[in-house]
Amino acid sequence: MNPTSKLDESHDPALRSWIGSANDSAADFPIQNLPFGVFRHDFEERPRVGIAIGDQVLDCLAAARAGCFAALGPLVDDALQSWSLNALLALGRGDARAVRLAASRLLRRGTPEGRRAQTLRETIIVGMDHLSMLVPAEIGDYTDFYASLYHATNVGAMFRPDAPLLPNYKYVPIGYHGRASSIVANGTPVRRPRGQTRPDANAPPVYGPAKSLDYELEVGAFVCGENAIGETVPIARAEERIFGLCLLNDWSARDMQSWEYQPLGPFLAKSFATTVGPWVVTLDALEPFRTAAFARPMGDPAPLPYLNDPGDQLRGGFGITLEVWLRSETMRAAEIPAVRLSRGSFGSMYWTVTQLLTHHSSNGCNLRPGDLLGSGTVSGPEKGSRGCLLELASRGAEPVQLPSGEQRSFLADGDEVIFRGWCERDGVTRIGFGECRGEVRAASPGVE
Ligand code: MN
Repeated sequence: MNPTSKLDESHDPALRSWIGSANDSAADFPIQNLPFGVFRHDFEERPRVGIAIGDQVLDCLAAARAGCFAALGPLVDDALQSWSLNALLALGRGDARAVRLAASRLLRRGTPEGRRAQTLRETIIVGMDHLSMLVPAEIGDYTDFYASLYHATNVGAMFRPDAPLLPNYKYVPIGYHGRASSIVANGTPVRRPRGQTRPDANAPPVYGPAKSLDYELEVGAFVCGENAIGETVPIARAEERIFGLCLLNDWSARDMQSWEYQPLGPFLAKSFATTVGPWVVTLDALEPFRTAAFARPMGDPAPLPYLNDPGDQLRGGFGITLEVWLRSETMRAAEIPAVRLSRGSFGSMYWTVTQLLTHHSSNGCNLRPGDLLGSGTVSGPEKGSRGCLLELASRGAEPVQLPSGEQRSFLADGDEVIFRGWCERDGVTRIGFGECRGEVRAASPGVE
């Protein structure tokens, strides 16, 4: 049932695009990638679906109007002319695969479609510099998981030294329902939240700007298709419900979180902002980078049968390298470039994305096109692969040193956080996710 490798002509490393910048071996968006996003021209309000190619974007509205996607039928043609990815997400993986293949032929050097598209270049191609990226879908529901065993263990040890990993962790993919309204587009400044904290355990809590603001390096998964309420998604079919993956920053206020989280989990410490990366890399583009699921150490329980599928164990993982970079206000003023804080791998996650989706639906919860699942902080076993400052600086005990001479236990106002992600493997063309950026702004003046 679980599809084995689905490599096709679109993955051929020999393909070249008539967009020159896409043929650079270090490019995030070669013709073998073709991720989807939603953008707006500087001169108009109407959002458009786009496909990244090199340092350019294929304007799907303009391309559809020029007849480039007519062969895919009116439903797909209409979806590509809509204001968000939702219409395409509603159609599902099969149609998304067809659009990516059509875009590959359009943007390819040496095909009849490519030659025709090249004559339309002025109409259908726009430079990335001349547009703003938006949140790629209208996100109805956002759920954030906690799928890294290393993150759960490190953080658990700080909050509950006697019981870092709770007994449910290796059975239940832990998650909570997040907030969709405060998901913001790449590059949107993030205002430091205000909230209730209890800095002195012997005094009442206080209300004010959070002091322990953090980022969380995560991977987001956009859901496509729909299961009716009451219906579950078997794990062997879960992959068809995932359109693609993106970078995600689940900004978190640790001092608010540690005071509010028990007994119902995160609330205001997480819901003030979540930044979604600009490009959704489809599962089809990620096909050459599939890996086995995380190898559970000896002695760990096997996943319960509804989460245990041989195909998923064989290829449920994704070989994605993920990095966090930071540039403070002082560094910007001194023209010091951003510094890398960590580098990790999505392969270190205890649960696969398909296990997360199947578990989410396992009670009959309907997952709808445009829903977003967050993986949880991606942290690996090594210190240099910890995906948030709470872990990297050991809750303030070992502050991170910046090249400006500054130190960070948590984020300061003016800090810009940049995530990068990419996949590479011998014999295959490297693909990337672009960058997910956000800069911290001071808390708003408020009543305290
Ligand atoms: Mn998170």
